[in-house]
Amino acid sequence: MITGKSYIANQPTAEGTKTFKTFDPQKNVDNPWTFTEATEAEVDAAVQAATRAFESFRSSSGKERAELLNAIADQIMNLGDELIETYCAESGLPAGRAQGERGRTVFQLRSFADLVVEGSWVEANIDTGDPSRTPAPKPDLRKMNIPLGPVAVFGASNFPLAYSTAGGDTAAALAAGCPVIVKSHPMHAGTGELVAQAISTAVKQSGFDPGIFSNLNSSGIEVGTQLVSHPGIKAVGFTGSIKGGRALFDLAAGREEPIPVFAEMGSINPVVALPSALEEDAAGWAQKYAGSINLGTGQFCTNPGLILGLDSDAFKSFEHHLQQAFEELAPQCMLHPKIKQAFDQGKSSAKEQAGTATVVAETAVTEPNYASPMVLKVSGAEFLKNDQLHREVFGPYSLLVSCSSKEELISIIKNLEGQLTGTILASAADLSMQHDVVEALQNRVGRLIFNGVPTGVEVCPSMLHGGPYPASTDSRFSAVGIHSIKRWVRPFSFQDWPNKQLPLALQNENPLGIRRLVNNKWTHEAI
Ligand code: NAP
Repeated sequence: MITGKSYIANQPTAEGTKTFKTFDPQKNVDNPWTFTEATEAEVDAAVQAATRAFESFRSSSGKERAELLNAIADQIMNLGDELIETYCAESGLPAGRAQGERGRTVFQLRSFADLVVEGSWVEANIDTGDPSRTPAPKPDLRKMNIPLGPVAVFGASNFPLAYSTAGGDTAAALAAGCPVIVKSHPMHAGTGELVAQAISTAVKQSGFDPGIFSNLNSSGIEVGTQLVSHPGIKAVGFTGSIKGGRALFDLAAGREEPIPVFAEMGSINPVVALPSALEEDAAGWAQKYAGSINLGTGQFCTNPGLILGLDSDAFKSFEHHLQQAFEELAPQCMLHPKIKQAFDQGKSSAKEQAGTATVVAETAVTEPNYASPMVLKVSGAEFLKNDQLHREVFGPYSLLVSCSSKEELISIIKNLEGQLTGTILASAADLSMQHDVVEALQNRVGRLIFNGVPTGVEVCPSMLHGGPYPASTDSRFSAVGIHSIKRWVRPFSFQDWPNKQLPLALQNENPLGIRRLVNNKWTHEAI
């Protein structure tokens, strides 16, 4: 049952006076629940509880944390239809999407459970000492990853489950042994509270200190600002806008003790559509791209917002088929009136830019929070001159850029800001001739896709979801997949430490049976 309260170390709390409601964009009405914004004292209590809990949580075993993560997954499934109905009422997204995202959330939690129960993720390195070495004895050095401390997580508006309360950031941080304080997203605070209740039940079952998890309600930037500024917070996970992510990054960097902010932000995901692909199947690619641009009402960070082509009949044919494919698509609901407002402003600003022309025109949409998709086109020369056209328009929107030459195409790619993905549509033979295009694109993105669409982010170890700024604040890490755990740890060395006092991962006997780099050789053996 949704109470509208925050959860601090398993205790429901609502001391504040400022309240807010979530909104049902399909019905165009407020949802019935009233949420109380966390007070300064409540934020502080959550961080104090997390700081205390870290003392024991950081040295808990992988097996214990795996039990917690699996229990969270079970409890989320136990929420049943109430979770799905609340998700839909707070996002306007269909039940099928809610169920799919719940499956992804549970899968992520279980993947991290498997990771920490196996244990090799700590990257144990051992260089045994040599007291007889001359001229100086060699010390015994042993290194492994250890948790950073309490992490603040800001959930995403567009993923109420998989990248919010018990989403990828939370699962990875808990797996690493870091307590988590979630700043709940105000657009889906009810979904967030239900998931927070599931986590609280799992924490109770696990016997861990309840301070390892808190969920704070808020509908403005105050709670998030206080959280990131609090000396007890040691890292931040964020998914959302460049403006929000950058503000938190600057805030964290300006603290007396700066801390890392892992923000996954805006991206327009350039697609290079070469004639060799379009000559073969312009209609097929147009159909696929109409689907990708409109998937989830265009509210995905991997939405293809920029399609670069060479001025050719093939690119014109693609444009024609794209326009036709859009005509067959029914308008869809956006997440929130504020997101729709931002979308409408983004479109207005884009179409006012010099040299733009319409490919897919906006249509009159009768439902209040439904999006009217739009596709524009512009020449490569105009695009190069105008940074405004490089901006993300969050929603079902894309811009076709017709380049007069391959040099212009490469110049455009080189001038793009950092991106999550880059896609190349080409024949296999043609791709092998395009080293310069591929290299230019690889330098700007986190993931290259061949003959596909950028939407759809598989959760697996080889996925890199991130990219050069502003796609993310640190392109060395992925926000998706088990390796995202590396954001919440620091490498740590013991020198000449007594064997029995070392963590199990570093002891001679290798009691965990994990893979270790011992004297420069990978092994599961004891020393
Ligand atoms: P957002 O505005 O960046 O907000 C995300 C979270 O960060 C919210 O909880 C928000 O709190 C908080 N926040 C934002 N600015 C802050 C600041 N200066 N200090 C402290 N906290 C701050 O993103 P959103 O609500 O998810 O969506 C808004 C826009 O972001 C969209 O229209 C879209 O343009 C973009 N977006 C992009 C992606 C992507 O993957 N590229 C994903 C989602 C959204 P409050 O809401 O309580 O103020």
